[in-house]
Parts: sequence; structure tokens; C-alpha cells
Amino acid sequence: MSTAYKEYDITEQIHDLHERLVNTFQSGKTKDVAWRKWQLKQLWWMLEDNQKELMAAMKLDLNRSSIESMITDFAGARKDILYHLQHIDRWASDEPLGDTFIARYLGLAHIRKEPLGVVLIIGAWNFPLLLVLQPLIAAIAAGCCAIIKPSELIPNSQGLLKQLIPKYLDESAIGLVCGGVPETTLLLGLRFHHIFFTGSAPVGRIVSAAAAKHMTPVTLELGGQCPAIICRSADIDRAAKCVAYSKFLNSGQICLSVNHIFVDPTIYDKFTERLKYWINEFLDGQPTIDTAIVNQNHFDRLLNLIHDTDGRIFCGGSGNPETRRMEPTVILDVDINDSIMKEEIFGPICPVLKGDFRSAYNATKLKGQPLAIYIFSNDKREVEEILENSNSGGVTVNDVILHAGTSGAPFGGVGSSGHGYYHGPYGFNSFTHLRTIMNAPSWLERALRFRYPPFNATETPK
Ligand code: NAD
Repeated sequence: MSTAYKEYDITEQIHDLHERLVNTFQSGKTKDVAWRKWQLKQLWWMLEDNQKELMAAMKLDLNRSSIESMITDFAGARKDILYHLQHIDRWASDEPLGDTFIARYLGLAHIRKEPLGVVLIIGAWNFPLLLVLQPLIAAIAAGCCAIIKPSELIPNSQGLLKQLIPKYLDESAIGLVCGGVPETTLLLGLRFHHIFFTGSAPVGRIVSAAAAKHMTPVTLELGGQCPAIICRSADIDRAAKCVAYSKFLNSGQICLSVNHIFVDPTIYDKFTERLKYWINEFLDGQPTIDTAIVNQNHFDRLLNLIHDTDGRIFCGGSGNPETRRMEPTVILDVDINDSIMKEEIFGPICPVLKGDFRSAYNATKLKGQPLAIYIFSNDKREVEEILENSNSGGVTVNDVILHAGTSGAPFGGVGSSGHGYYHGPYGFNSFTHLRTIMNAPSWLERALRFRYPPFNATETPK
């Protein structure tokens, strides 16, 4: 088959899918809350019936253990489906407006929740199911039609989702497009009513620019260099254990992983010893973390970061190029201007910087807004001072990542780590137009008669 023919074929397929979804949305089918609930339940059964196969696909893509996939992709998606089923009736109902009882009682105004339309969901590779299914759950609950485009870097997971989505979900309203840059570029040329993007900041810019041509609103879930700030008052062992855990989970390939650590000089040696202790405990005799680095490019990029740093390698420092598994690597005495601090690491490398919490929040401010900040402190005033002097998508105090799993809490970045929210009602609202409707009763005409011209500033309203 010639390349030209293949490209024509993909373009046609994408256009046909888009047109089909536009027609379905216009038919009003997806506005029916019963349809939305049915689709959410189907999604539940898709995960339930195919758990083994989906886990095997993720194992092939990332060499990730079943337990890791269970506590991340599966638990997150399942919890979200149940939460949406529980709340969808209330979220989708009209909301009375007015700040007095009488205004509400009279029912003059209300907000109608209207689905935005046909939406595009573009996912990153590090959570093959979650990053496309969580926004899809919100889009379905809101009554939208959706095209999902998972990452091409997880071909097994992408291929299995391609088979399962049409088998379980309503094909007239939900579709999946496989592929990478060419396919995403074709999709971005079409008009959507919302684009939900999870990925890197440079691609986020491309998505925003394409969306601007159609004045399409965009949610950007981007990365960030999430710092952990270990204060003098911290529970040192707990802090070291949590940081090490964040570098093991998915081999540190998580937007919410600790990127680098600021440690108060008075506890620096004790903390780094405990960090090494927990790394060895978690390795359990193995030389490397089980979950692989997603591809050769990223593996080489990570080794180059280690090679180029001026910091001191405290433990780890290499990996197995055949399996792309890496040793968890701690680099000590890193300077804020070191080459390793220039980009999001997205792997099991942990630079440690010496500095008290004030130097930590000042340095953090200079690097844009991270997706999360992790504060380890047992002094409330310290915590409050850091919060007052920093900005980030979210914060977990004395642990890592937990804020992102809190039911009903908004999740999203700010500034350089993205904009817009999802999870629970926040995701529902991202795919919903809040339409204010005012029903003017006949008596209002008399009450508002002063508004009509001719306007005369000297005359008081009667
Ligand atoms: P990426 O930006 O390279 O790719 C994301 C998606 O965009 C993929 O589906 C890919 O096919 C598509 N894409 C890539 N290049 C494109 C181009 N030139 N034009 C159009 N589409 C293109 O990101 P990634 O490597 O898949 O994921 C890692 C990044 O995602 C990290 O920065 C990480 O922090 C971030 N991330 C953020 C969150 C969050 O919730 N904020 C979650 C997971 C990952």
C-alpha cells in the first residue's frame, strides 16, 4: 500500500469518525442521563471483564507489576466511575439561582448544565488507562461525545483499548484513534468543543495553538518539577520513605513524582542515609526497579542527566540497556543551576539540594509553578509560610501524591504546570456549559419600567 493511500485512509477515517460523533451529539442522544449512566457502567464492565488482558498489555509496555497497575490505573478509574454514578443525577440537574430564599422560591433563574459537544481527549503514556479513561468518564457523565487518542508509546495498551472501546461503548458517540504526531495533528485540525490534553508543556503549546484556531477551550494537564521540602522539624524517616516510594512507583515516571528534594542542612546527612536505607529496602536485593523506562530515548536521556550533573552520585547511577530498567539514583549536593535541574526528570533519579525551607520556596518560585509541592514538617507555621510563599497545582503535607486521589477534590496544574481541573464535579464542569436561564414574570416588567429610555439623570425611578 502506498504511503499516500495510507495517509488518505487515516484522514478519511478520522473525518468519518468526527462527523459521526457530531451527528450523534446533534441528535441529543448523549444528553439523556440514562444513556450516560449506561455508558459509565459499560466502562466498568470493560475494566472488570478484561482486567487480566489490560494488565498484561501494561506489563508488555512498561514491565509494570500487576499490583502497581491495580493501585494506579485500575483503582483510579474504578473509583471515578462509582463516584460519577453516585453523583451524576445531582450534577446534571438544573441548579436554582438567587441569594435569597424568596428568589430561589420564585424560581426566577436557574443554571442548566449543558454538555459542550464533541470533545477530544489526548493522553500521555505513563498511565495507559487512567489518563484517557478518567477524562472520558467526566466527558460521558457531562453528556459529551468523545474521541480519545492514547499515546503511541504504549502500543499494547493502545491496541487493546482500540479493540475494547467499540465492543463496550456506544460507537456512535465514543471513538478511539491510534497513532502519534501525524494522527494527533489531523485530529487537531478538526473543530472540537473542548480539548483535554495530558502531556508535556511543549506539546501543550501545539495543542493550544491548534485549539485557538477554532476558539476551542482547552484543559492542559502538564508536568512540572515537583519539589519535596524537608524541614528541620520533619519526621525524617517518614519523609525519606515517601520520597523513595515516589521514585519507585512507575519508576518515577509520574507527573506527580518528587523531582528534587530540598533538605534542611541540620538534617541533611541523616535524611540522605534514611533515603538510601529505604531505597535498598524497596529494591529487596534487586539491582534495578522492575518497571522499565518507556523507551530507549527516555532511557538514554536519563543516563545523560546522570552523566552531565556536577552533583555527587550517592547511590545508583546506571541501568540495564537491554531491559531499560534503572537503578534508583540519588545525587547529592546539587546546585539549583545544575543541568539536572533544567527539565522535569520523569524517572528514578533524585537530586538533593541543601537548603532550609525559605531558600527552598524562593528557589521554587523561580522555576515556574510545579504541579505539586510536598512539604515535610511538623511545624504548622512553617507549613503555612511555605504555602503563603509558593504556588503549585496541589500540595500534600507529610506524604506524596495523596492530594490527587482525594475524592471530590479538583486536580490540575497552574501556570506552567497547566490549567483547568478534573476529578469529580470539576471534570464534569470542564465538559459542561453552565447556561444561566432567567424566566422573567409579567410583574417584573412593571418593577423594571424605569430602565427604558429616554434616560434622564435628574429623574429618580418611581
Ligand atoms: P507528550 O507531550 O510527548 O505526548 C502527549 C500526547 O501528545 C501523546 O498522545 C502524543 O501522541 C501527542 N503528541 C506528541 N507530540 C505531538 C505533536 N508534536 N503534535 C501533536 N501531538 C503530539 O507527553 P508524554 O511523553 O506522553 O508524557 C509525559 C509528560 O506528560 C510529562 O511532562 C508529564 O509530567 C506529563 N503528564 C502530566 C500529567 C498531569 O496530570 N498533569 C499526567 C501524566 C503525564
